[in-house]
Amino acid sequence: MTTIIDGKAIAASVREKAASAVADIKSRHGVQPALAVVLVGEDPASQVYVRNKHVATEKSGMRSIEHKLPENTSEDDVVALVRKLNDDDEVDGILVQLPLPKHISSDRVINEIHPDKDVDGLTEVNAGRLILGKEGLVPCTPQGSVILAKTVTENLSGLNAVVVGRSILVGKPLAMLLLAENCTVTMAHSRTKDLAAVCREADILCAAVGIPRLIKGDWVKKGAIVIDVGINRIEESGKMRLVGDVDYDAAAEVAGAITPVPGGVGPMTIACLLRNTVLAAARRRGLGKVE
Ligand code: NDP
Repeated sequence: MTTIIDGKAIAASVREKAASAVADIKSRHGVQPALAVVLVGEDPASQVYVRNKHVATEKSGMRSIEHKLPENTSEDDVVALVRKLNDDDEVDGILVQLPLPKHISSDRVINEIHPDKDVDGLTEVNAGRLILGKEGLVPCTPQGSVILAKTVTENLSGLNAVVVGRSILVGKPLAMLLLAENCTVTMAHSRTKDLAAVCREADILCAAVGIPRLIKGDWVKKGAIVIDVGINRIEESGKMRLVGDVDYDAAAEVAGAITPVPGGVGPMTIACLLRNTVLAAARRRGLGKVE
C-alpha cells in the first residue's frame, strides 16, 4: 500500500504548533511576533501569495505588516524600506515577495535583510549557515519537504536521497537539509547523464524541476519516498490543472509514499514561514526555545 502524504493535514499541524508557540510567547512575555511582507508591483500571482501569507500570519496570532509599493519604486527605495524594517524592533521577520520588477536587483534587496529576520532563508548569510551546519533560518519549501519525508520515516540516516533540481530556492537547500539528516545525497540537474538510472537509486526522490511529469513511474525505486515539489499549470482535456514534476499515477504504483500535487509540498511553504517567524522572534528577543 502506498502512503499518500497529506501535506494539507501536516501543514495544518505545523501551523497549529506555530500558533501555540505564539500564544505562549504572548502570555509569558507580552510580545506579539510580527511578520513584515514587502510587495513591489502588481504581479497577480504575487498578490495572491501575499494575501495568503497575510491571512495565515494573522490566524496564527502574529501581527502581519504589509508594505505594497508601486511597480516603478526605485531599488534604493526598496532597500531603504528593508533597512527601516531591519531597525524596527517590533518586526521579527521580513519577507520580500519575489519576483521583483526587472529594474530591481533581487540579489541586492534580499541581502539587505538582516539575517536574523530573513524568514525566507534566502540571504547569503543563512545559505552559509545552512552549509556550515550552524543555526539559521532555513528556506521554507525545502524545510517543508523534509518535514513531509520524516512523517514517513523519522530517521532518514543512511538513505540514498536524490534531489532533481539545484536552484538556490529549492534544490540546493533541500540537498543540504537531507545531508544534515545523514542521507547520502545526489544532486541531479539538467546536465545529469541518465537521470532515470540516477533516480532509480533513490530511497528518497525529490523533484524540484518545473517540468510537468518529468519523473516517470519506472524511474522510481520500489518503496521509495517521493517528494514532488513541482507545481506546473497545464491544459489537459480542455481544462487547466496543476501537476507536479512526477508522473503521479505511475509513480504511486511503485512508491512507498508520495506527495500529491496539489496538497503535498505546496501547503507546507506558508506553514514553515510561520514556523520561521516564531523562531526568529524567539531567538532575536531571547525568549528561549520554541518547537
Ligand atoms: P528553477 O527553474 O529555479 O530550477 C529548476 C532546476 O531544475 C534547475 O536546477 C535545472 O537544472 C533543473 N532542470 C531543468 N530541466 C531539467 C531536466 N530536464 N532534468 C533534470 N533537471 C532539470 O526552479 P525552482 O527550483 O524555483 O522550482 C522548481 C519547481 O518547484 C517548479 O515547478 C516550481 O513551481 C516549484 N516550486 C514549488 C514551491 C512550493 O511551494 N511547493 C516553491 C518553489 C518552487 P540546471 O541548474 O542545470 O539548469
